[in-house]
Amino acid sequence: MRILKFGGTSVANATNINLVIEIICQKNKKEKLAVVVSALSGVTDLLLLASSKASAKDRSYEAVFDNLQTKHNQTIIDLIANEKQIAIQSIIDKQLVQLKTLLDGCFLLGELSPRTKDSIAAFGELLSAQIIAYALQNKIPNSTFKDSRELIKTDTAFGKGVVDFESTNKLIKSYFDNQTKDVVILPGFIASSIDGNTTTLGRGGSDYSAAIIANGIHADELEIWTDVNGMYTAHPKLVKQAQPIQTISYQEAMELSHFGAKVLYPPTIQPVLQSNIPIWIKNTFDSEAYGTYISNHPEQSSNPIKGISHIDNISLLTLEGSGMIGVTGSSKRLFEVLSQKDINVIFITQASSEHSICIGIQNQDADLAKQEIDAAFSIEISQNKIDPTTLEKNLCIVALVGENMKNHQGLSGKMFSTLGKNNVNIRAIAQGASERNISVVINENDVKKALNTLHERFFEVNTKQLNLFVMGVGNVGEKFIDQIYQQRKYLKEYLKLNVRTIALSNSRKMIFNEDGIPLSNWKTEIESGEETNIDTFIAKAKELNLRNSIFVDITANSDIAAVYGQFLKQSIAVVTCNKIACSSQYDNYKNLKELSRKYNAPFLFETNVGAGLPIIDTLKNLIASGDKVHKIQAVLSGSLNFIFNNFSANFNFHDVVKEAGIQGFTEPDPKIDLSGVDVARKILILIRESGYQMEIEDITNNSFLPEACMKTTNSNDFFESLITHASHFKNLLEEANEKESRLKFVATFENGKANVGLQFIPKESPFYNLEGKDNIVQFYTDRYADQPLLIKGAGAGAAVTASGIFADVIRIGNV
Ligand code: ADP
Ligand code: ASP
Ligand code: MG
Repeated sequence: MRILKFGGTSVANATNINLVIEIICQKNKKEKLAVVVSALSGVTDLLLLASSKASAKDRSYEAVFDNLQTKHNQTIIDLIANEKQIAIQSIIDKQLVQLKTLLDGCFLLGELSPRTKDSIAAFGELLSAQIIAYALQNKIPNSTFKDSRELIKTDTAFGKGVVDFESTNKLIKSYFDNQTKDVVILPGFIASSIDGNTTTLGRGGSDYSAAIIANGIHADELEIWTDVNGMYTAHPKLVKQAQPIQTISYQEAMELSHFGAKVLYPPTIQPVLQSNIPIWIKNTFDSEAYGTYISNHPEQSSNPIKGISHIDNISLLTLEGSGMIGVTGSSKRLFEVLSQKDINVIFITQASSEHSICIGIQNQDADLAKQEIDAAFSIEISQNKIDPTTLEKNLCIVALVGENMKNHQGLSGKMFSTLGKNNVNIRAIAQGASERNISVVINENDVKKALNTLHERFFEVNTKQLNLFVMGVGNVGEKFIDQIYQQRKYLKEYLKLNVRTIALSNSRKMIFNEDGIPLSNWKTEIESGEETNIDTFIAKAKELNLRNSIFVDITANSDIAAVYGQFLKQSIAVVTCNKIACSSQYDNYKNLKELSRKYNAPFLFETNVGAGLPIIDTLKNLIASGDKVHKIQAVLSGSLNFIFNNFSANFNFHDVVKEAGIQGFTEPDPKIDLSGVDVARKILILIRESGYQMEIEDITNNSFLPEACMKTTNSNDFFESLITHASHFKNLLEEANEKESRLKFVATFENGKANVGLQFIPKESPFYNLEGKDNIVQFYTDRYADQPLLIKGAGAGAAVTASGIFADVIRIGNV
């Protein structure tokens, strides 16, 4: 014989019940069945709500009752043919009258005893089971309803009755031994005490009812039919990548359910484990799906972790003080107090110094627990031997579960470092002696991030998700988004990176999508976004709290450069082509680097110098390997190089500048390039990255611009003054021609001093033939003493800059 159990969603309405009936009919073709059903979805909650309202003298319990009545009546109307409705309707009506009488009684007395509460809660399963049994008659006439209260006996611990297996097993056996029906429908969740009162088995207890019956009749198998494809590697609603676990041991399933995998009520395993009855978890709405098979012999898998589960609403209570050291019985007293008040302890750690005990309990028990413990230890507290208990609320337990964990080293290390990298603070740690479980207590706000990042680490070894928050989608930004979009398949397949864009913002609008913005259409979408606001942008990134978050600054804006620290402090990496932060005050640059180290959040700015050229990365590698930079000589302005390479007797200087702007080779404000400020910033960054401390004011800027040009305050005036001083620029060109040299804007660092300025470069210099918008850098170091290390290539342009930003993002992905 086989036992089937259908949960609340599976019997939520007539449509679903018809699916359930179909499954029963299929299964019944092969063998006899006992079918345990839950209340219609949400009904137990409504019954408990009505009872608490009634006992609080709140008349709105009547509205809740009406809702319950309508729900059941509607199900009958939808499920059962017209002519047959009267009989079942009158049965259900009679019971609804009884329910109403009980609720009215609670209202009149202003009271709700645990016993009455159970009697009320029991109506959910009683009503659903009778409706389903009646509907099934139509398909399987040789079927019947049986009240489980006549079979399952408990003590009088109302709300969570403790089953008396001896009498229960006898009653079940004798009922089913004489049973000739093909299918028996039974209400889950409910039982009765030896003295005949209705009891319940705890929330979610229908699973347990089914296991008790399976055990009583030594069923071949127990099937738990629910609304998901089995027991998943993590809560499927919180972790999209979670997968059903195909086979799992009883102990592992028990551990996962104890630690919050709601799909199975924790006590369910015990009865079937004893009689070695396997459990199938199946999906009512996808009956072909494999599901999860729980037994003594799960298939061996190479992954020692089976699943990750979590429990919300946890508080940590810590009892601490020198008075506990070596004093036997402190823990005993602590746990006695809690057990007297029926407070369930979910998590315990004790430091080996015996100086403190830390326990995890449910939030709802926390205040009472603190009060009782402080009272019990009041003498020690008054003598300052023990501190008053400290209480931290709104936490969550996350547990890694797997039988095979004991045979593998370093799993906890991996768990902690994975959480640490994502700025998830671990408040307490426990590892069961069975080593089947490692649990940590973390802040409730971090639970989704923690589950996803752990899931990725232990189950999706192959892919890593990166979540981008992109600010600035102008020339370069647009190219960057294009590259991310075009390369998405390559990144997934070859680099195992799933790069998602969560936020996009230009100077006017911003959009967010937690699941990733579909990049095929971002330009239209951004127009319907909210108004750009950097504070909201930061708040949103914090609130979403996604793993491997990266803030990408593709602006040239100083307000944006000022907020990097706020991201880094949240362990959000920063990638930027904006030079302002790194060339600002040395203290600010240093502080950002320190934050990056402290919060384990990369801060990368390769494109600050030489666009996509690997200049900073090379420098970093030189320094890291112990080399020392003595001298740097470079042409670092792609824009100035473009301008001077195209400036000839045939063109005016200002026209060439304009053309460079149109082609996207200058900063939005060209004066920043022409004045030498941009180059000064770049050499400053290289100097700092070489390990020297310097400020921008320490760099001598030998500007080639006439003073009047330097004094202008806006782009228009600047252009006007370039036109006015056309002859000045012509003279420079003529002088270069006379000297058979070329004009290059060179940055130099030597003997601790730096300068930038226009130079006449002779033919023999490696800088002479620098074409187009190219950059060149020469590093003279300990190792490259005679011949410098030379990097050369395109140093400006949207596409190369975008690819440099892209490379920084990938670098973070590969960490
Ligand atoms: P039923 O009403 O059928 O008893 P439950 O709501 O009690 O169903 O349990 C099923 C739900 O458990 C799923 O819809 C899912 O949201 C939740 N759940 C939490 N953790 C897990 C997990 N690890 N695997 C599967 N489901 C889980
Ligand atoms: N109906 C009960 C509850 O909601 C039992 C169950 O569904 O398993 O807790
Ligand atoms: Mg359930």
